[in-house]
Amino acid sequence: MDKKVRSVCQGCHVECGVLVHVSNGKVTKVEGDPEHPMNRGYTCVKGRAQPQVVHHPDRLKHPLRRVGERGSGKWERISWDEALDGIAEKFTEVREKSGVESIAGIHGTGPRSTLYANPLLITALGSPNVISVDLHICYQPSLIGERWTYGTSILMESGPDYLNTNCIMVMGGNPLVSHPARGMDILEAKRKRNSKLIVIDPRRIELASKADLWLQIRPGTDVALALGMMKTIIDEELYDKAFVEKWCHGFEELRERVQEYPLEKVAELTWVPADKIREAAVLYATTKPAVMHHRVAIEHNLNSVQTCRALAILVGLTGNLDIPGGNLLPMSLEGYVPQASLWEDPQFKPVPEVDKKRLGAETYPLASGADAVFPFVVGPLANEAIRTGKPYPLKALFCSGGNPIVNSQNVKRVWESYKNNLELHVVADFFMT
Ligand code: SF4
Repeated sequence: MDKKVRSVCQGCHVECGVLVHVSNGKVTKVEGDPEHPMNRGYTCVKGRAQPQVVHHPDRLKHPLRRVGERGSGKWERISWDEALDGIAEKFTEVREKSGVESIAGIHGTGPRSTLYANPLLITALGSPNVISVDLHICYQPSLIGERWTYGTSILMESGPDYLNTNCIMVMGGNPLVSHPARGMDILEAKRKRNSKLIVIDPRRIELASKADLWLQIRPGTDVALALGMMKTIIDEELYDKAFVEKWCHGFEELRERVQEYPLEKVAELTWVPADKIREAAVLYATTKPAVMHHRVAIEHNLNSVQTCRALAILVGLTGNLDIPGGNLLPMSLEGYVPQASLWEDPQFKPVPEVDKKRLGAETYPLASGADAVFPFVVGPLANEAIRTGKPYPLKALFCSGGNPIVNSQNVKRVWESYKNNLELHVVADFFMT
């Protein structure tokens, strides 16, 4: 029997609406859902290739239990009951022996369901230790920077209002490749509205060839560029005075701070010529409404939180916050549920005594404290707790939608400590990782 099932692609964060063609229980084709607002019928090659994932001969379909040494690759097939009972038994043993905080969940940027299911399991068990493999270098700097500037995030996939904008600034991201549906929106804005496009990237990414301005920036200097642009915008009185007056605190301090970044100095730091920096600042500030799009490349530096803060301020300074064609606040989008709502919901939030015990809650409160947007343990800190047993050991790990052996820093050491120190390591994944 043939049918079409309405679903959502999990190939990237855009989450395009798709129609899945099923014939005799087999997925035969995935096509874009023309009625879905995020993609309006579009799919990229990743979305269209999903049937290959579902029916790939190497896809895991049954629970497997390791029977040899860790890493020996020896497994036996077991039933779901055996798997679930075995996990529950070991969790109980670890909880009784080492305390419930020695049980942890770890996840990557897998499907949305992983982002919720893994933390819910660990929170339900009473442990504070939900670990993100890579959030600290992938999105957390933006979340922190924007939260402490506006109170919420403006860069989630539906935030930038690409289709109604007159200017788009893309920084440290390659949307035609990593978030293709959004990349197509940028091209559509360019084609239909002649929107201006500023690309800031050390590489000549695909969008750079379509840009009005391409700033080939030296990696790691984005915050200097943002401060230099702000200086130009403030000095030349191009900022949105009404917005600043009504909504901003600390404008005079900002004016003073950016004086430390004259264009000549910024040019030296960033390797972008001063006249080009000024041109970009003027174009972004005067072509309203404008959209800011930045992604993980600017989050891989020591100063990434401050970079994201500076860019968040730039959006506000130019009056492009929460206006049509600008960067919309999540609550302005009809029916939109902010991503962090689960953790802000009192029924899912760990009680304060549990929150306090989270690894890194005191050392990195913005990332792992009770008030963090996603109160997760920073990956490297968890890896150290597994390796050294300090400040307390992590003994049982439930990993889904991520691969810490590949994604972590210093993977050899991570592999050794997982191999030698974990009493239980459960991995839920489509393929053997
Ligand atoms: S852009 Fe591609 S990978 Fe991303 S959700 Fe849409 S179809 Fe899937």
